[in-house]
Amino acid sequence: MKRISIFGATGSIGQNTIDLIRRDPNGFQVVALSGGQNIQQLAKDAIDLRAQIAVTADDALLSELQTALSGHPIQAAAGRGALLEAAHRPVDICVSAIVGAAGLEPGLIALSHGATLALANKESMVAAGALMHKTAASSGGVILPVDSEHSAIFQLLQSEKASDVERVIITASGGAFRDTAFEDLQHVTPEQACQHPTWDMGQRITIDSASMFNKSLEVIEAKELFGLRPDQIEVVIHPQSLIHAMVGFRDGGITAHIGAHDMRHAIGYALYYPTRGDIPVERLDFAKLGQFTFQAPDLRKYPALGLAWDVMEIGGLAGAAFNAAKEIALDGFIDRKIGFLQMAEVVKQAMDALIKDNMMGDDPLSLECILATDFAARRVAQDIIDAVRAGN
Ligand code: NAD
Ligand code: MG
Repeated sequence: MKRISIFGATGSIGQNTIDLIRRDPNGFQVVALSGGQNIQQLAKDAIDLRAQIAVTADDALLSELQTALSGHPIQAAAGRGALLEAAHRPVDICVSAIVGAAGLEPGLIALSHGATLALANKESMVAAGALMHKTAASSGGVILPVDSEHSAIFQLLQSEKASDVERVIITASGGAFRDTAFEDLQHVTPEQACQHPTWDMGQRITIDSASMFNKSLEVIEAKELFGLRPDQIEVVIHPQSLIHAMVGFRDGGITAHIGAHDMRHAIGYALYYPTRGDIPVERLDFAKLGQFTFQAPDLRKYPALGLAWDVMEIGGLAGAAFNAAKEIALDGFIDRKIGFLQMAEVVKQAMDALIKDNMMGDDPLSLECILATDFAARRVAQDIIDAVRAGN
């Protein structure tokens, strides 16, 4: 039995993970589950899976959680401190499925204790790739990507030599506005951006898919996870979302990872690694699928995508600043303070301002420095949004 904790258990990745655990009752012993506002879901899963502790990130919801768990031998806890304390509990696998930079520390703590980190929280690698690797190296922990493209690349690289890899091609669905003209993007709403053509995911990553900020994060994530040079990474729109990634080798051969768009494959791969589990995803019938199509992403429609290469070129803590500014720009769009295309402008301006004013930290191996850079980027991005609104 593997001891497992799931941080972000009530979200899309968390619930898919729980679905797999329920199907294998003898495979896993649940230590900690964490969630946010959805206390009833958190309590129900904690009871069903006999978790040791359930943690809500929201301090104000502790009594609701305690009531929901009363009569069961499960500890109820609330707040950031309780979440980090829960991450110290020994486990074999920690599923890092909180959205945003808030997911960095719990995963890092589990990794520092030598756990295998099933990493959905791409923001961890973008903001703190070097620290994540260093932590794993010193504790003996292992980072297994859960992002579908990165799980695909990881699988494609098994028993290959890094020096034989020429390029990595990450596919993108094109998001909600794949077929929308550039001119029509000025006035699109958060509700429209939430309509993903293929994947069923949380609200924030779905909007990030429409803007391709998600792909931008994934390009940086791939560089950090696999030690690639920026010029080795390509992105292609593949509307069917069935090829998740491809790897091109120096002999001209290209391998592709193909599968249904169901996150339980990538999650299951990490849960059962280095073996494979019986995962109930759809088995593709190629004759029925007909065709796979591809198109180049239009950088005018997806300005966020190009920013990934700027971030990689700047290096250091640029990823931490980029992700934090992106989170604030996304909040600004969700709250209707800025338009869809303004998100990338805000992030670019925030990055420029941080560099100009020397506000980016200089030690990518220091958590304190990473968090300070994250904090500064949020403040600068918020100031830019406020200025945009004042001028509107
Ligand atoms: P989601 O919004 O569905 O769930 C997020 C979870 O994090 C919830 O449990 C929520 O309560 C918790 N949470 C949110 N803010 C928090 C905070 N400040 N502190 C503590 N907990 C907090 O998100 P999701 O779609 O499951 O995505 C989770 C992560 O996985 C993200 O980093 C995302 O980029 C990545 N990811 C998701 C998918 C997908 O298919 N959903 C695919 C690849 C990668
Ligand atoms: Mg992905």
